[in-house]
Amino acid sequence: MSKAWITILGATGSIGVSTLDVIARHADRYAVYALTGFSRMLELEAQCLIHQPLFAVVADQAQACALQQSLRQAGSKTEVLWGEEALARVAGDSQVEVVMAAIVGAAGLRPTLAAVQAGKRVLLANKEALVMSGALFMQAVRDSGAVLLPIDSEHNAIFQCMPADYQAGLGKVGVRRILLTASGGPFRDMRAEDLASVTPKQACAHPNWSMGQKISVDSASMMNKGLELIEACWLFDARPDQIEVVVHPQSVVHSLVDYVDGSVIAQLGNPDMRTPIAHALAWPERIDSGVSALDLLATGSLDFRAPDLKLFPCLGLARQAAEAGGTACAQLNAANEVAVEAFLAGRIGFTDIPVIIEATLNRMTPEPVEDLNHIMAADALAREHAQRWLANRH
Ligand code: NAD
Ligand code: MG
Repeated sequence: MSKAWITILGATGSIGVSTLDVIARHADRYAVYALTGFSRMLELEAQCLIHQPLFAVVADQAQACALQQSLRQAGSKTEVLWGEEALARVAGDSQVEVVMAAIVGAAGLRPTLAAVQAGKRVLLANKEALVMSGALFMQAVRDSGAVLLPIDSEHNAIFQCMPADYQAGLGKVGVRRILLTASGGPFRDMRAEDLASVTPKQACAHPNWSMGQKISVDSASMMNKGLELIEACWLFDARPDQIEVVVHPQSVVHSLVDYVDGSVIAQLGNPDMRTPIAHALAWPERIDSGVSALDLLATGSLDFRAPDLKLFPCLGLARQAAEAGGTACAQLNAANEVAVEAFLAGRIGFTDIPVIIEATLNRMTPEPVEDLNHIMAADALAREHAQRWLANRH
């Protein structure tokens, strides 16, 4: 079997590291074409020395020169490129078969789209890209014949629980609704009055998953589940009202599909992203991921409850944006990115996050999406409104 060349966009992040862990277990199947990183250059250098990619891509020329020099000194043949165009290039090059899209936030949109447009097998972790550009993104998948496989554990679970022909439409294949599980994050049992004073450190200490900072804060505010609701609408051609969010504190049931005959199919596993990564890498085959077998007896019980929309208004805001459609989801995502960054920088409190997002959305009217430039303009304007809110506040 010839090896499949893989590009990992966002190799130095949490998903990137887990992807390299799985790939290292299957050196007979995969060869690394490119690794990209934005900061943490020492980690990227170490990854290059171990995995010997043909290319590494960094943010700017200075980083590129420094990395190129140290790699050469260590005897590595990896060529270092830099900038946005290089990201799109290593995502779309003809030799590449698989692209792991694991850059965080809107920055991942263009390179992820480049992979889709080039018809790759795209492993989608970068949910923000799909949230921003849903219709356009899915059209590009259909046009190019790209194989889009979800990495988000919930969507990967839903994909595994769907019938093979689900793309015919949920109604046609007997699916009644999708049950999207949520851990509820570190603050799920907190009193409303205590939420205002939580710190970034507390927000990033997720009880079940170890993840990058941005998604950890999103999980704490439940905006992550809101973004995932929008993501599920696009991936499975579902209406927002066909998706129900269920809080499941153990994070063992990764989501469920409810059929018209009363059957409910769930996917279970330990909360470790290497499972969906291995699934998407090898689909339709199965390969070892390094994740230990689920011990149901040790888990004991599985609990489910409704989300508290008063405590976590971000989830309701995301549902509204999903229903509004058009540019609303790009606006929601942009305002959230600004708010999360401000929270992580200690500029605002945790409960200001939904306030900024709502204020931003109230100032903008969603429009039907014309093209990528239109989406980027909506994103930029929403960032401007959110930044102005922050500036007026201080
Ligand atoms: P992370 O912060 O750990 O890593 C992000 C990666 O993106 C890093 O390699 C970083 O260098 C790169 N990056 C950041 N800003 C960039 C920019 N402006 N340009 C180019 N590259 C940039 O994040 P993560 O937890 O690995 O999450 C990555 C994506 O996967 C996110 O969209 C997240 O929502 C999604 N996701 C993550 C998990 C998880 O368990 N970590 C689960 C589901 C989905
Ligand atoms: Mg998820």
